[in-house]
Amino acid sequence: MSSEIPVKQVDPSSDSSNNNKKPETVELYASRKKIYVKEVKGFFQRIRNVSLTLLMGMYFLFVWITIDGQPLIHFDLPAREFHLYGMTFYPKDFILLSGMLIICAYGLFFITTLFGRVWCGYTCPQTVWTFIFMWVEERIEGSRNKRMKLDKAPNSGVKIAKKSAKHAVWLLIAFATGLTFVGYFYPIRELIADIFTLHANGWAYFWVAFFTVATYLNAGWLREQVCLYMCPYARFQSVMFDPNTRVVSYDPNRGEPRGSRKKGVDPSELGLGDCIDCGQCVQVCPTGIDIRDGLQYECIGCALCIDACDEVMEKMNYPKGLIRYTTENELEGKTSKLLRPRTFGYGIMLALMISAIIFTIATRVPAQMDALRDRGALYSFNGQGRIENSYTLKIANMTEVPQVFSISVSGLEGIQILTDTRVTVESGENRSVPTVVDVPPESISESNNEIRFQAVSETDSSLKLETESRFVGPTR
Ligand code: SF4
Ligand code: SF4
Repeated sequence: MSSEIPVKQVDPSSDSSNNNKKPETVELYASRKKIYVKEVKGFFQRIRNVSLTLLMGMYFLFVWITIDGQPLIHFDLPAREFHLYGMTFYPKDFILLSGMLIICAYGLFFITTLFGRVWCGYTCPQTVWTFIFMWVEERIEGSRNKRMKLDKAPNSGVKIAKKSAKHAVWLLIAFATGLTFVGYFYPIRELIADIFTLHANGWAYFWVAFFTVATYLNAGWLREQVCLYMCPYARFQSVMFDPNTRVVSYDPNRGEPRGSRKKGVDPSELGLGDCIDCGQCVQVCPTGIDIRDGLQYECIGCALCIDACDEVMEKMNYPKGLIRYTTENELEGKTSKLLRPRTFGYGIMLALMISAIIFTIATRVPAQMDALRDRGALYSFNGQGRIENSYTLKIANMTEVPQVFSISVSGLEGIQILTDTRVTVESGENRSVPTVVDVPPESISESNNEIRFQAVSETDSSLKLETESRFVGPTR
């Protein structure tokens, strides 16, 4: 399908003879221009290096750590268990996991309102891996100018060797990333042994290959396009910004009019601002934008342009901070407020949700019991003339060890359980226990009576479960 649409130029002020002009063709699709990012050193780059090292270290190390035989973080899908920092969650705890995800989302909104896209610039996996891949590229192919020259040069032994080495290292990092990711779902030691001895199952190979290719493509080839076209957060984060949000900005009051000049010349004599129009801030930008054009959705808030401009300002003996973290209000000479209704709102919501989740986890009983009445029969009379009802007790054991439960029932005079009252439930098991209960007819005054089932663990006496149900008898 063609991406070109013939457009006829129409000038409403001219006569109709203009409409007979030859149609012009306007290109609606612009192919991607490769961005050659210049490496820069500086304060914010050092901060990112620290965060990048910490995050990568956590990602590659946590998968190997176990506490009392339990992995630190492990999603055991076949057993339907999720191990997280010494706690084990089961499908029944889905609400807790959802709560944690909601807290993460609110945390992100809160931070964005205060400091813009710091998540994107310093901690987003896309940024972290892209920066690592760019670092490798710089080490193998050289500086920005050398890389541009290399790409333009005809194929040669050196070019092929450099390109092959770069892609080989990228693939190696991508493979380590894919293997580690799958290791969070499949015990990492077994996974590595199985993968390299060709004993892993097909899905393990598939997912390792999938995440290897995804990492290689996203960080090596797609890079800023993931942020510009694929990430939804880039599109809606601007609604969280307000004039008090501190974001990376160029100060046009100080910088304009821009223009080149010799070092040591007073810009005011030339009628210029502090921007020497060197273009360094554009050359270091991983999304290829010019921060001097104002706040743009393409800006991931990486602050590389601050480092680049500060270096220039230092060389020119000008004060640093022509590009800096600032707010729209400050740029307009107004005062900025850190605390405002929006930040209060997000902050209070966040504090409430964190408190609720801590309380829920702290008071969480790692076992649960439900009683389901057998809906097939309302009641029956047994050989002793007593009234019988049938139930299925569902007992979930969310502890790390098997539990033996003693079951009892109360609520009516003479009520008793006719089936097994001692039940073993394995760790992580949600066991269905068919249970029959009977009552002497004289104990029943109504057709629908409240009863309670209790289950006490013989293994851990602190585990006491109770659930309510109904006992149905004849109408009186
Ligand atoms: S790096 Fe600073 S001085 Fe150079 S063009 Fe950018 S804003 Fe102007
Ligand atoms: S303009 Fe470019 S370099 Fe500057 S913070 Fe935004 S993305 Fe980073």
